Amino acid sequence: SLNGKTAIITGSNSGIGLGVAWELARAGADVVLNSFTDRDEDHALAEEIAKETGTSARYIKADMSKGDECRALVEKAGTCDILVNNAGIQHVAGIDEFPVEKWDAIIAINLSSAFHTTAAALPGMRKAGWGRVINIASAHGLTASPYKSAYVAAKHGIVGMTKVVALETAQQPITANAICPGYVLTPLVEAQIPETMKEYDMSREDVIKKVMLERQPSKEFATVEQLGGTCVFLCSPAADQITGTTISVDGGWTAL
Ligand code: NAD
Repeated sequence: SLNGKTAIITGSNSGIGLGVAWELARAGADVVLNSFTDRDEDHALAEEIAKETGTSARYIKADMSKGDECRALVEKAGTCDILVNNAGIQHVAGIDEFPVEKWDAIIAINLSSAFHTTAAALPGMRKAGWGRVINIASAHGLTASPYKSAYVAAKHGIVGMTKVVALETAQQPITANAICPGYVLTPLVEAQIPETMKEYDMSREDVIKKVMLERQPSKEFATVEQLGGTCVFLCSPAADQITGTTISVDGGWTAL
């Protein structure tokens, strides 16, 4: 059980991050939810998790596009035994037209935020003598698709950084791994359906079937609960010697 452990999950008021928070809390961890907003409904998500699981759950606002706010999130949480770097955004456009501000935002949120939170969290993990860094990368951390230059670059980058963190903590009871999901039907994926329809001149159904699940041999979306379960596994003693690697949850995508 993860009783007594505190987990920070960045970008967790929606989608995979929220699913991971639920599963870690069900496994006994106290969770810290995060996003860049500070609405009643954000705090209500934490209250609901606390009520359902009997663990403590908090919501802390911090913008993962800003390095100082990433570090402040870890500071404000007080303890961080489990760090799940999940915050991420997407933008779909050919590289010639790719908006510079989208490139910068994707590199900041999907890659640099994990550098800042990890740097802030590792000293506490070293002192506590236990820690888990889990980076939510992507099948796009291992392979590429057209029109996703910034995302693919950031996700390959975070897979590389995961390996470095693993080497720098190898002789301590700390592990660092990246989970590489294939397509999961979250708001992030919903949002790229219209742009992909435009890029490929396809209907919504065809984008789901012929572009998204085309790459996923199982022909099914992965679920946020399955990704949460993978995080719980990485926090278990069975995973003590799993470090510096990637775990694909992609229905066979990267086997192709
Ligand atoms: P989502 O849009 O549902 O969730 C993204 C989360 O990040 C939200 O909670 C959002 O509030 C938060 N976020 C965005 N910008 C932020 C910022 N500046 N500061 C703090 N939080 C911010 O998307 P998702 O699909 O759940 O994506 C979560 C992660 O999983 C991302 O890193 C994404 O790249 C990765 N991923 C998703 C899929 C998929 O198919 N959905 C596949 C592979 C990887």
